[in-house]
Order: sequence, then C-alpha cells, then structure tokens
Amino acid sequence: MRQLLIGYVIVAHIYVQLSNRYNSMTNFSKELLTVGEMASGVSLTIPVYRLTGNGNGPSVYIQANIHGAEVQGNAVIYQLLELLQKETLAGDITLVPYANPIGCNHKNGEYTLGRFDPITGVNWNRMYHFDQSMVVPFAEEFADADIELIKESFQQKMLAGIQDKLNHNNYGLTTGRRIAYQLQEMAHQADIVLDLHTGPVSSKHLYCPEYAKDSANYFNIAHTIFIPNGFAGAMDEATFCPWWYLTDAFAKQGRELNFDKESFTVELGSQELIDLDEALIDAQSILSYLQYKNVLTSNKYQPQQMTRYACYLKDYKQYYSPMGGMVDYLAEFGKPLAAGEPLARILRMDNYGDGDALHYLTLEEDAMPILHFASASVHQGTELYKLFTNYFKLTD
Ligand code: ZN
Repeated sequence: MRQLLIGYVIVAHIYVQLSNRYNSMTNFSKELLTVGEMASGVSLTIPVYRLTGNGNGPSVYIQANIHGAEVQGNAVIYQLLELLQKETLAGDITLVPYANPIGCNHKNGEYTLGRFDPITGVNWNRMYHFDQSMVVPFAEEFADADIELIKESFQQKMLAGIQDKLNHNNYGLTTGRRIAYQLQEMAHQADIVLDLHTGPVSSKHLYCPEYAKDSANYFNIAHTIFIPNGFAGAMDEATFCPWWYLTDAFAKQGRELNFDKESFTVELGSQELIDLDEALIDAQSILSYLQYKNVLTSNKYQPQQMTRYACYLKDYKQYYSPMGGMVDYLAEFGKPLAAGEPLARILRMDNYGDGDALHYLTLEEDAMPILHFASASVHQGTELYKLFTNYFKLTD
C-alpha cells in the first residue's frame, strides 16, 4: 500500500509537471485513441498529442514505433514536444508515439520482436490502404475544379474510404489493419507525414519520394533513398502515392498541379535503443525540415552543413549471406567500400583443422553500407547488409 501510494504520488507528480507546462497553452491537447481490444477485454490505446497552429502553415502528422523494437522515435517525439512548446506554429502538428501497442509490447526473452504481426505474419508496416482505381475517375470528375477544391475533395474521399473499411465492413478487419487504418485516418488529414523507424544495427537514413528530393537536404541525415511511385502497403507510400498518382492523372489532362504533400520514413539508427541526446539532434533535424515547409514561424532551425549521399531504391541493395555462420561485421556505415574490400568475415569453427574456419565476404562493385543484421549468428540467406550502389552526392 505504501508503495502503491508512492507510485500514485509519482504518477500524479508527472501529470502535474506535464499539465503545468502545457496548461497555459491553449494549443496543446492529449487524448487516448482506442485501436483495439485484447482477449481479456483490455483496450489497446495510443496516446495522441496535438499542437494547434495559427492556420497559416501546412499540417503535420508524426508517428513512431509501428515496428516494436524501433523505439527511438518515441524519444524524438518527446524532444519535439519539449522544443515545440517554445515555438509559434503556423500549422497543426499531431504526434503519436507507441503507434503499435502490440508490437512494442511483443517481447521474447531480452528482445523486442514486433516487426510482424505474430498471428498473421504480416509486416506491421504493410497494412495501410490505397485503392488506386479511384484516382483517374476522380481526376476526370474534378477536371476543371480549382486546386483547393481538388485537395479538399480528394482528402475527403480517402478518409471516407478508410471510414468505410473501419465501420462498414461486415466481415471485420484483422487486428493489424484496424490499428493501421486508425493511424492512417490521422495521417490523411495532414499535408506532411513522418513515420519514425530504425534499422536493425544501422546508420540514420531517409526514405524520400523522388518528387520531394529538395526536402532531403533539410534533414540532418547523410543517406537518402529516393523511392518511386509504387504502393506496397507502407505508411509513407499510403500517404504520398495517392497524391502522386493524382498529379500524374491531371498531367495527362494537361494540368500541372502541385499538391505539396510530402511523406517520409525516417530511419533513426538502431533498434532496441533509446538515446535522448541523439533524439534531441534528430528532433532539431525534423524541425529544420518543418521550418523549411513553413510549419514553424521561427528561423532558428537551419540544416547542418554535411555531406549527404543518395541513391535510388533500385540501387539500394540487400546482401544475403552466402553461408551460415558467425559474423564479424567489418564494413563501416556511410564509408565508401571499394569492390573487393571485405564486407564481413564469417567464422565457421566446425571447419577448423580440416577446412577454412574464416571466410571473407566481398562485393564485385563499389558500395556504401547503410545497415546490417542485428545478430552475429546467421543462417545462409540472412539479409546481412543493406548498401547503396550507384550513389551520388546531394550536398557537400
Ligand atoms: Zn521499421
């Protein structure tokens, strides 16, 4: 009981700290969004923080931790909330940590799993919705409409599609899609979407739609992958592909329209790590981009001078282990690796004395390692590294 009381006092204190800090801010709100129910009847909830702007800038949606082990985005959202309370916002910002309450609680031994729904096996970031067949008829119907009407009507149409999936589906929804659609409902209401992830053991990198190339230079991230217009179920694609297809549909009619919608997957480093100092740096990087997009009225967040590299998605290669064994990862992230230079060496103690106990792995072309597998023991065919090839400089 005594402990309970102390616990209560601590919780109450935390609450008071938060409300004190924000109670003078009429532009701050917090709600718990219920996204499902556990077998025991317990609700699955997600905290949603909203900051209201003065209506003069684009709106933003930021979520973190859709993959269970990729926790650093929660720390970045904490730092964003800390920094944003000192800013005057032109646009509304919605921030959603712990976006997948099943994934982030999915532990096995010391490790967090949570990349795949344990029941269906589907990647949690492949369950968003986009019905491409709606685009061309919409563009025909709104052929002569003013751009603001097009934006508003297209957004409403996408939201209605999600609502229909959530509320008028006689045969129900999987647990994962129910979560995904509720997140997507919030994301579709924003002009800018940032989905915060991490790699396994990884450098920071950014997935950026090809049309939004210029924006990559405002994040303090040295590696960017430019992605084409193709929907495979991820949050970034679910929110930029519809607008990209719509732009193309109007272009075919001879109208060049810019809807100014951008979505990114921001890979913040390695999984299973919280680093609040690094999170502050990442929050400043995000604010540099948001300031460039006129979401903030300040001018204090400038992008860092740094060498930024990029490659196209088709040149972002997965390297699968040619053999099983124990891996000593050698190649450093972000450093050019010449053809023939060792990527890793594999230890095979079963071969010691009567075979080769050490195997060096090399590539036949120049590359730049971005991330590697999280464990030292691998089966043949494990995705060992992901690497840039045919990469180029964006900034020096
Ligand atoms: Zn992820």
